[in-house]
Amino acid sequence: MKTDEWIAGHAKMLTHLSDTVWQYAEQALQEERSAAILRQVLQEAGFDIEEDLGGMSTAFSASWGSGKPVIGFLGEYDALAGLSQKPVAHREALVTGGCGHGCGHNLLGVGALGATLALQQRMQELGLHGTIKFFGCPAEEIMTGKIRMAAAGCFDGLDAALTWHPWQTNFVVNQPFLAMNTAKFTFHGVSAHASANPELGRSALDAVELMNVGVNYLREHVPTDVRIHYSITNGGGEPNLVHARAQSYYYIRALRRQSVDSVFKRVVAIAHGAAQMTETQVEIELLSGCWHILPNKPLNELLYSCMIKVPTPQWSKDEQEFARESLREFPPEKLEEIRSSYDGYLAPGELLDTHVQPLGDGKNMSWGSTDVSDVSWITPVAMIGTCCTPMAAMCHSWQMAASVGMSIGHKGMLYAAQVLALAGERLITDGEVLTRAGKELECQRGNIIYQSITPKHIS
Ligand SMILES: [Zn+2]
Repeated sequence: MKTDEWIAGHAKMLTHLSDTVWQYAEQALQEERSAAILRQVLQEAGFDIEEDLGGMSTAFSASWGSGKPVIGFLGEYDALAGLSQKPVAHREALVTGGCGHGCGHNLLGVGALGATLALQQRMQELGLHGTIKFFGCPAEEIMTGKIRMAAAGCFDGLDAALTWHPWQTNFVVNQPFLAMNTAKFTFHGVSAHASANPELGRSALDAVELMNVGVNYLREHVPTDVRIHYSITNGGGEPNLVHARAQSYYYIRALRRQSVDSVFKRVVAIAHGAAQMTETQVEIELLSGCWHILPNKPLNELLYSCMIKVPTPQWSKDEQEFARESLREFPPEKLEEIRSSYDGYLAPGELLDTHVQPLGDGKNMSWGSTDVSDVSWITPVAMIGTCCTPMAAMCHSWQMAASVGMSIGHKGMLYAAQVLALAGERLITDGEVLTRAGKELECQRGNIIYQSITPKHIS
């Protein structure tokens, strides 16, 4: 049976699995039940399971077959705090204050799993040689899972890896993702009565504020692709005391890993300067970091050819109505602006994509970051996005959390699984694509040696 037929024939099982993960809605590094249910399906299908990868109980791999080539599928399943949502076209939490799949990772994990199982079946049927590996990658939202797995050597030995992400459109994700560091800066001062004895106090909050001022002046003197954002995670307590402890939380991004390293050093220097000015101490904790992505043209072209071969999802009247209703309060001018960026191929009133966007030149920026990038330094990687949510229903929104728990998301997931399975079959049967993909990786990597960014204290 062809892979797309297998997936269509198992649509019920896959959507049930995805809805189950959607209902579990477990946050990063707590995805015990989500990981377990995917592991079980793969184990029952005859895959060898390796658990606790990279020291994470919710990370695993599942392998089947033998010898070369070795093709990986990357799956995720972590949810987001505060985004619990019923699968309805208005804001209504499933669990008040609970987590929700506002990034559609319930679909992501199951879609990649569907591709893996369909390819296994096809390889059995045709007697094809090779190994397929599904990677259960937790904690993408906190930029942790694949980075720790990469550090543990989990992706070594792969000839290529494929993945996808639920999106508003159908396309090959041929765009730069930024390298990033995330870090917390905790200042320690001396508390005192703010009115009676201010001279005895040393303010940690002053240090946080001065650091932010310093960093805001730094912005003028960094390359234009650098992005710096922060929040104050501890601003002290009552105003009538000098705050002994205050903390800021920074994300620093850039097009290249090397820029992040250099700007991060300057931010650290500013933190020390702020500590010196206020006679406080600063404790710096680098929480996570990812690399920029290496695009892989041969794999992107392969995925594009598969995307246009597999029929895209078509949407029912009810689904179109759901999309319209869920965006009822979205500013109409902004909606029109987004619609016009679709080159007019969405009919008036339609908010769900049925086309495959042309393979871009890789110059459109996403301005986001992903830990898939780290895998792209180890093995050739490519990714697609499929329409699982209405246009303008952005990642991390309640609208997306709703649509990925109902038929719009299901259809996008099944399409993604069909595309990835077909691409996987071509990689297994056409060694020439893999050779070109491997050469492209070598060329893109140049003489830079990848090293994963591990959490650490910085002095
Ligand atoms: Zn995501």
